[in-house]
Amino acid sequence: MLTTAEALDAVLGATPTFPTETVDTRDATGRVLRQIIRAERSQPPFDRVMMDGIAFAWSDYDSGQRSFPVQAMQAAGDPALTLAGGRCIEIMTGASLPANANCIVPVERITIVDNAAKIEADYEVKKDRFVHPRGSDFAEGAHLLTPGKRISPLDIAIIASCGQTRVDVAADPVMRVISTGNELVAAGEPIEEHQIRLSNGPAVLSMLERYGYHRALHDHIRDDINALHDRLEAHLEAAEVLILSGGVSMGKADYVPQVLADLGVATVFHKVSQRPGKPMWFGKGPGGQLVFALPGNPVSALVCCRQYVIPSLAKASGATETPPEFAALASNVSFKPALTCFQPVRLISNAAGQTLAMPVKTNTSGDFASLSATDGYVELAKEQSEFPAGTPVFLHRWIAR
Ligand code: AMP
Ligand code: MG
Repeated sequence: MLTTAEALDAVLGATPTFPTETVDTRDATGRVLRQIIRAERSQPPFDRVMMDGIAFAWSDYDSGQRSFPVQAMQAAGDPALTLAGGRCIEIMTGASLPANANCIVPVERITIVDNAAKIEADYEVKKDRFVHPRGSDFAEGAHLLTPGKRISPLDIAIIASCGQTRVDVAADPVMRVISTGNELVAAGEPIEEHQIRLSNGPAVLSMLERYGYHRALHDHIRDDINALHDRLEAHLEAAEVLILSGGVSMGKADYVPQVLADLGVATVFHKVSQRPGKPMWFGKGPGGQLVFALPGNPVSALVCCRQYVIPSLAKASGATETPPEFAALASNVSFKPALTCFQPVRLISNAAGQTLAMPVKTNTSGDFASLSATDGYVELAKEQSEFPAGTPVFLHRWIAR
């Protein structure tokens, strides 16, 4: 049986690189950038005024002038005026500094009498103050974003500021999320006492959405060899990534590994020394399709999706690797089996500025109701069985950067 690290390596080793596609900037949030975003212009593109007030020449002030007849008003978006000697221009935040002006005094520090601006007697005027000089943030052509960045709302500001209506990102692969099980009934359908609501499919789709993958469709297949064979064959034909749940344990109706093998999907591994999620199965289809078969238990399915599927998609998209994250256990944990324990946790921070991971008990690996209060899970080494409060552990957030 593989260790969790070996299983992740095997998944990443089998992961291809998705091609590049161009999308509208407004659809790019969460997608992985595949181009350099270069500054369209220097920032700011002109000497930008930072206060509502008046602009005048330092030389006039320096020679003792304290009252300045108003020559004109210039707002943000107006072309720069040329200031005449001995005058001032009423100026607004965001405007470009008028030619010949190099002093700004905020409107709060002046009074206007007979169309002349008089500066408060005790106000100390400084040359060039409240001017955001042209190019002082970055120069034209500067590399503002580089490939591998998962595009955040802040990055959208940068891309838009560079005048790009479209942007190159990693292609969104065609995926299928497949729930197997006779007992499963989707929301919206009538349900009997002996049946179970289908929840893994919607949860996996939602996690994919949050990571910027939008082209996954869902299917529900019964535990029937022929149905599994026909439907999985069609899904392998149509999709690049298959994410199944259920049917990979040792039960008599757990046909998924057998049917996948019959369809020419090569097993990369089956079973990982972890809890929850030990029955996890992973293989590669005849056309290079990635096939993840997650255990059906809802906690196992979500942990395995986050632990194996998401890193694989991130690598295929070319996402820059994020450094490992750590947290300190907030309470003692005891875990006896010689398996890596993925313990769901809620994060809290203490007054010393540390991130603490508070273990949240799940009744069984089927108890998904308690997961809602968690931020992720921590990884407890399989070689150890007692983890005192304060132990530093790897943290995996459900929704990482
Ligand atoms: P399995 O791995 O197919 O043996 O399923 C293990 C447990 O998870 C069983 O109790 C199933 O009813 C439950 N289960 C499997 N798939 C789902 C699903 N899509 N939604 C909710 N529960 C599921
Ligand atoms: Mg099942």
